[in-house]
Amino acid sequence: MQPLYEGKAKRMWPTDDPQLLRMEFKNDATAFNGEKKAVFEDKGRLNCAISCLIYQLLEREGVPTHFVRQIDATQVEVRKVRILMVEVIVRNLAAGSFCKRTGIEEGRPFTRPIVEFCYKSDALGDPLINDDYIREMELATPEELAHLRGAALKVNDLLGAFFAKCGLRLVDFKLEFGRPESAPSTIVLADEISPDGCRLWDLQTGERMDKDRFRRDLGGLMPAYEEVLGRIRRQLDA
Ligand code: ADP
Ligand code: UDP
Repeated sequence: MQPLYEGKAKRMWPTDDPQLLRMEFKNDATAFNGEKKAVFEDKGRLNCAISCLIYQLLEREGVPTHFVRQIDATQVEVRKVRILMVEVIVRNLAAGSFCKRTGIEEGRPFTRPIVEFCYKSDALGDPLINDDYIREMELATPEELAHLRGAALKVNDLLGAFFAKCGLRLVDFKLEFGRPESAPSTIVLADEISPDGCRLWDLQTGERMDKDRFRRDLGGLMPAYEEVLGRIRRQLDA
């Protein structure tokens, strides 16, 4: 069998139900738009476990998502969606491309979260776009965009509070949304939420617990992800 799609970090497989997909997490890691690559044993399992726990938490809090159920250690059943070609980034502290773009030092907290939109295009390097681009490119209607912003800020509130209880600061993260094939007039949260697409800093030490360890060759990527998973599990059990 062939996957419907193989990306940098996951494979998407068809199922017997045309409205559902099997999402398989791979052990591959990439950074800088795919220029830097490596394979980490166990990465698929860790990201799958973290993402499933986060999606279940969001569903419990009333955020509609594509999550259906975890199938096994590296696979999740999800509702098949038409992904919106807009990536939504929320930032609570300055880091990454925000610092590059502005010259502002890493770690500066914002008075309010920043919501940012990028055009989901590997060929163009996911460029930053704004509301007017999104309207003219017909990536989403103004009403849908308002919904994306609201949903992203709600996820930020929920996850910021949850990760704080885990002793982690949610610095920034990227979300993807889609229109389910079964209900194309609605929008749900899709893709994954894991330390691949979130910056998480230890609240006490400031230690990086996310993919920046790979981007910056700090080492200890999988031990950091394992620690994030352990803290999430302990917090959910508490
Ligand atoms: P990339 O495409 O950036 O290399 P991945 O390796 O994570 O990323 O591939 C997963 C792909 O599946 C992404 O393009 C993502 O937008 C898409 N996707 C995520 N969730 C769903 C879903 N529920 N239905 C359809 N596509 C999805
Ligand atoms: N991010 C992501 N995929 C992308 C771009 C960004 O998951 O294609 C995440 C990234 O991990 C970080 C946040 O979004 O948590 C903000 O990323 P930034 O714009 O700073 O990009 P970077 O320069 O770090 O790639």
